[in-house]
Amino acid sequence: MKQYIIKRLQSNIKALQRLDKNGKKTGKIRYRKVLHSIPIMQYAITYKVDIANKSAHIQGLGNFKVSGSDQIPDGAEMATANLIERNDDYFLHVVAYMPKPEMVQNKKAVGIDLGIKDQVAFSNGIKVQYAIQFPERAKLLYRAFSKSAYDREKKTRSKRGLKLLKKINKEFAHANNEKKGINNKIAHCIAENYQYVAYQNDSIRSWSKFYGRRVYQTSIGEFRNALKRKVSTPLEIGRFEKTIGVCVNCGASVQLKLSEMTFACPSCGYTSDRDVGAAMVTKTKGLSLWNIGETLAEDHASTSNMMDYLKSIPHVKASIAVEARSSKQAEGVVEAQSVRAG
Ligand SMILES: [Zn+2]
Repeated sequence: MKQYIIKRLQSNIKALQRLDKNGKKTGKIRYRKVLHSIPIMQYAITYKVDIANKSAHIQGLGNFKVSGSDQIPDGAEMATANLIERNDDYFLHVVAYMPKPEMVQNKKAVGIDLGIKDQVAFSNGIKVQYAIQFPERAKLLYRAFSKSAYDREKKTRSKRGLKLLKKINKEFAHANNEKKGINNKIAHCIAENYQYVAYQNDSIRSWSKFYGRRVYQTSIGEFRNALKRKVSTPLEIGRFEKTIGVCVNCGASVQLKLSEMTFACPSCGYTSDRDVGAAMVTKTKGLSLWNIGETLAEDHASTSNMMDYLKSIPHVKASIAVEARSSKQAEGVVEAQSVRAG
């Protein structure tokens, strides 16, 4: 195991050297008391994971009980690993290779609108809400931490302070893991159901300026990244494309106020939920921008399957936006107009 640490050290120093040569700022090399991660290079020789028995063996250290070994999928080929210490917990990060999965080729398309109040709205009418609260316990811990002794000369915290800091980090790590899990599950669900996924390249960074806490609670940007990775054919449309207040039926465009939750088209009478409407416009624009051509229509069964799956994810609320749009209503408007014209 020592040799891997040395090897990594060497390559780190080489990288630093290269940076230095290129005129980048590099600090002095200092001694380290503690290592927080140890690279483990060879599966079956330096380490082994027994998924079924939830145990791992690491050369020179022995056998360990592990939880979460089921995260390694069946048929994965394990390669290198990293033994990591974080906030007094130990993790074994395993790099595993999977045969490339068959991407869905079902010619189905969906549009997505990302938002603050409802995190995700889909063109099939589903809206998803989720929020992982800021870990309140971290706040209490932080209060205690800020009172802990601090040595100005040595620039060190008291033992108690360091202990509290670890606890705080743990709270945040837990909340972040939960968010990550939710984002991955929703993205996975979409990737399984739709070949084409249209979304807008919104500037999520600018949202955090106005809605910091809300954006924190969801990490909506991470959701978009998970989508890009997972879906068969992502269709991205530009961030300045207008999607809210555009009629998916006739293309008319109005200025919707932030408070207006439904869209009613002044020219053809079509009405829809504000966000679902935006998702539908995103879908239409994405498909035409990328010249996708014919796609398969939405069917009720797969929408309700998707609903069931989304509802099964903890902390996630899914609902079908009331389909305010009734074709009768739209016809009514047309009739009224023609009467007037006559
Ligand atoms: Zn219209």
